[in-house]
Amino acid sequence: MNDPTDEQISTTDAELWRPIPGYEGYYEASNLGRIRSVDLWMSNSHRTRSLRGRVLTPTLDRNRLKVSISVAGKRRYVLASRLIGMAWLGVPPDGHRIAHISEDQTDNRIENLTIMSVREIGIRNGRRNLGKTRDVCQRGLHPLSGPNLQINACGSRQCRACRQAAARVWREARKAR
Ligand SMILES: [Zn+2]
Repeated sequence: MNDPTDEQISTTDAELWRPIPGYEGYYEASNLGRIRSVDLWMSNSHRTRSLRGRVLTPTLDRNRLKVSISVAGKRRYVLASRLIGMAWLGVPPDGHRIAHISEDQTDNRIENLTIMSVREIGIRNGRRNLGKTRDVCQRGLHPLSGPNLQINACGSRQCRACRQAAARVWREARKAR
């Protein structure tokens, strides 16, 4: 039997909320990766009415979750991970971003978020792409292995035959001019 203590702690799942820096009084983010609007009291000279806060429904945009938020009549479409990270990890310094620890970019629980430099993120993404093995080239014509496999400076896997063919077409076009 494994000691269940750690697992019990991590699956407690008590949802806690913190204000989001820059959106205090409007939006809050939870440790479980959700964002909610805060109850607002709006008043004019005639009456005061309340606007109930609610949990926002994120939309999927290129494998990441975005939410639509509105402050003082301006609506913006923002990465949910950025808002949650700012609330729980702090505002990233210049040249840094909120990044996901696992490859699942939709897992916005705070244990899956971290602050990384743009440079570190680039290196990591390059490594991940390198690990993804596609065995034929994008055009589906040549094997992406052996001498035909080229790895460029960004770490992406490229087809030597397609690159040579493209270079040939370019040279022919230049000669024809
Ligand atoms: Zn090819």
